[in-house]
Amino acid sequence: MALLAPAVTPAGKDTADRIFVNGRMWTGDPKRPRAEALAVRGPLVLAVGTSGDVRALAEKATDVVDLRGRFVAPGFIDAHLHLLAAGVSLEELRLDGAPTIDEVCKRVAEWARKNPDRHWVTGRGWPYSAFPGGLPARGPLDEIVPDRPAWLVSYDGHTGWANSFALRLARITRETKDPPNGIVVRDASGEPTGVLKEGAMTLVARLVPEPLPHEKERAFKLALAQAAAWGLTSVQVMGIPEDELEILARVLEGEGPRVRVRAALPLPTEAVPEALGRYEQLRRRHAGGRLSVGAVKGFVDGVVEAKTAAMFEPYPDGGTGSLNWTQDELDRAVARFDAAGWQVMLHAIGDRGIDMALTAFERAAIANRTRDRRHRVEHVEVPRLSDLRRFRAAGVVASTQALFAYPDANHLRVYLPMLGPERAARAMPFRSIDEAGVVQAFGSDWPVYPADVVRAIHCAVTRTTLEGTPPGGWEPAQRIVVEAALRHFTRDAARAAHEEDEKGTLAPGRLADLVVLSEDLLAVPPDRIKDARVLLTVLAGQDTYRASGF
Ligand SMILES: [Zn+2]
Repeated sequence: MALLAPAVTPAGKDTADRIFVNGRMWTGDPKRPRAEALAVRGPLVLAVGTSGDVRALAEKATDVVDLRGRFVAPGFIDAHLHLLAAGVSLEELRLDGAPTIDEVCKRVAEWARKNPDRHWVTGRGWPYSAFPGGLPARGPLDEIVPDRPAWLVSYDGHTGWANSFALRLARITRETKDPPNGIVVRDASGEPTGVLKEGAMTLVARLVPEPLPHEKERAFKLALAQAAAWGLTSVQVMGIPEDELEILARVLEGEGPRVRVRAALPLPTEAVPEALGRYEQLRRRHAGGRLSVGAVKGFVDGVVEAKTAAMFEPYPDGGTGSLNWTQDELDRAVARFDAAGWQVMLHAIGDRGIDMALTAFERAAIANRTRDRRHRVEHVEVPRLSDLRRFRAAGVVASTQALFAYPDANHLRVYLPMLGPERAARAMPFRSIDEAGVVQAFGSDWPVYPADVVRAIHCAVTRTTLEGTPPGGWEPAQRIVVEAALRHFTRDAARAAHEEDEKGTLAPGRLADLVVLSEDLLAVPPDRIKDARVLLTVLAGQDTYRASGF
């Protein structure tokens, strides 16, 4: 292999501060996809090539990292997560993967017993599949937590489960009307069951004491440290409120864990001109480095399990979901931000919601004569396959989550039956999205799923659980190859943030952000991808995570 000339030649000699040699690198750079070694100068990649070529750039003071055949990829980028909620979730009651209502109740009871001083019992992560009929009710929760309010959020964050104490505090009775964009679930006699969907969640959630600023700071630090341990060097944070953004900015400026953050502010539903004014200031203040602001994120519809994802055809037991905007309102809000140079990210899960988001993006580009804003649809769970070419034509990014195809009990027994067979067959169509030539960026939606990139790649490639079920994978025609999954977590995720000239590939002049794994993901059998461990995470040439023993 010949040494590529560095794109950026620093003044003085071409010597490296640090070199990584004897690796098996996947660079993401189509001009040189595989390499053995890489040289770093300052925060940037100086050269990529053979170990011999790169060693020639070392001098006495150069730090030499012998990779001993380990796999190297560009630093992972998560295109969609919620950093504060993720950090909070690392220390709260977790109900993830609880297979039965008994297991859910056991975990709640244990947590309540261990935390007698907490005024509220709060937690998250319950799967719909733990409950007969797919939804919990306040009865069992009242038995475990009779004397203080309890509020437990589903794994996807779109449904809440309250006990009677919390309902009383929130003054929710049979007379309570459904709020806009929300549902107070009721039993046959009209009594609230304790389950609140979407917009109705705020009736209780607003009463839960918010973490104090120092607790938020701690949560951000915990989340960033965990992200680095998963090999992430950049994350894209969805819909962060302005006060939280300032706390995050302080954390990122400080000495704590280092991950680059691109933040999307909430897309306002009203007072758009005022919000735009404030947002412009934030965009100018946070224009790069560790924190950049340049996008807004809104919600078109809800989620499948709560039957709030907006569909063209009814759910098997009725209803077509709910839309948070009329097409007209959405068009206006999107056009406004599009005209001002903002990237717009719209949560849309059902085929009707996705169509609406695409329509708003298409109309904004025509009305404003704008190009390459790279607006994004977040999740894209059940698109009409005929709409995929609209993504490509309008340059809209499909921001998907590999682990949303994780075929566990919730997915197979609640999610898919809720869709019905025709839609189930076209859910999470990662391969069809790729084949349509759409830019597909992978994320986790952490804390909905952990931002564990190796696990996510395993899922995208096998479409099985970690235990290998179902045999052959769920909808195996939509499996993608490892290289595509890597691309979606690196180059494509960078592109989805207008950052592909700085990161997402290992090439001269790019940021020296990389991850070292214990296994060559491109060589191991697919069912062993999950066993790869993150050994080292490097940001701008500096270690941000190092596994013990490496
Ligand atoms: Zn999300």
